[in-house]
Amino acid sequence: MESSASLGRRDDDDAVLARLIESIVDDDAVIAEREASKIVSMAAALRIAKKRAATQAITSQMRELEERSLAAEIGLAIRVNDRAVQNRMHDALELCDHYPTTLDALADGGISARHATIIVEVGRALQDPNARAVYEATVLERALRDTAPRTRAFAEQVVEELHPRSITERHRDAVKTRKVWKQRLGDGMSELGIIGPDVLVGGIWDRLTQQGNSSKQAQVTEPADEADADPDAIYDERNLDQLRADIAIDLLLTGGPTIDPTTGAITGPAGGLAAIHARASIVIPALTAAGLADRGATLDGAIPVDADTARCLLAGAPSWERIFTHPIHGHVLATDTYRRPVNLDRYLAARDVHCRFPGCRRPARVCDRDHNFDWALGGTTDACNLACLCKRHHTLKTEKPWKPVQQRDGSIHWTSPLGRSSTDPPERYVIFREDPDPPPGAPPF
Ligand SMILES: [Zn+2]
Repeated sequence: MESSASLGRRDDDDAVLARLIESIVDDDAVIAEREASKIVSMAAALRIAKKRAATQAITSQMRELEERSLAAEIGLAIRVNDRAVQNRMHDALELCDHYPTTLDALADGGISARHATIIVEVGRALQDPNARAVYEATVLERALRDTAPRTRAFAEQVVEELHPRSITERHRDAVKTRKVWKQRLGDGMSELGIIGPDVLVGGIWDRLTQQGNSSKQAQVTEPADEADADPDAIYDERNLDQLRADIAIDLLLTGGPTIDPTTGAITGPAGGLAAIHARASIVIPALTAAGLADRGATLDGAIPVDADTARCLLAGAPSWERIFTHPIHGHVLATDTYRRPVNLDRYLAARDVHCRFPGCRRPARVCDRDHNFDWALGGTTDACNLACLCKRHHTLKTEKPWKPVQQRDGSIHWTSPLGRSSTDPPERYVIFREDPDPPPGAPPF
């Protein structure tokens, strides 16, 4: 039996909790209302860009640039990558134009921004305005009383019922969305995804499973009794998931495609595309490379790599070049054989790491080398006037009044067409921190 005092405390707690929950509900409603307001502003901004583009621009590329420049302006102001801003503006316009009742429900705090996004995304399959109206009314009713994931599942069923086209027709379009993507997971791991037809992805899964199971049967595992273990044997304890992943990675890194358009024929594994090998730039501090320290290695200058993997890559690399970094601020000072133009190019890739447009992370190796001050107007071809820009932002800088001015330390001061400014410093490779356990003979930084 609980005492009356402890029952009293419980009642007090319950009252506090009830108030807290009310406050959370109120906050959610306010956030939803502000989200609706932001969506209306984003849509209005995109309408202006579209109107301007329609009156001024002649080519479709110029029309697109008007939107991109606006997305970059907003991105600079709210510190979001401009590609993401452009997508959000399109989603916002779609919500305002096609789902007015959903927008109202968001403004009233009845649904969250996530619910609204799901209604827009799933509803994209419907082109007919009447079908879309039925869809919106049906799904919104569900969204008002259910979670976002459940609303998505329900919305997909509703689309299936309202869709006027057969699965064959829809598959013909859906197959165009096939792609491969990667995403970092942290702790030195990444995820690779493939979107492809059910039958092919199912086939890949089946093949990997069969190969994994065969490997498992051939595995030599450690005997239960340690006394029976062979000290020289290499035991394989990988489970089926790990085997599937190892086999898939091996096939993708070393195999060649059967159909090779570069040679115009069906070729064997030594064909044109098969001769292309994976590239990676690994930055390894000298002490880590020598095995004296265990930290600081990075992939493309940004993604942490564990020391064992870095040393393994170093040992297997046919050639590598040293990159000297400043001992205090960590900026790249030079590569070890500095000769133009090849080494200037490598120097820029090492210094810039990625596209130097504000917020962009496209790796430098796929970027153009841009003369910040136009070469045709007297700009020089040296590191103080060159910077890595991806295709998208190189075009934007060439066609729209985005102005970069490079400083001696490699920082780039950007001014947007509307006069907003931002300074992009070069990447730092090293952040110095006291080593709690310095290796013998290590320098004092
Ligand atoms: Zn870029």
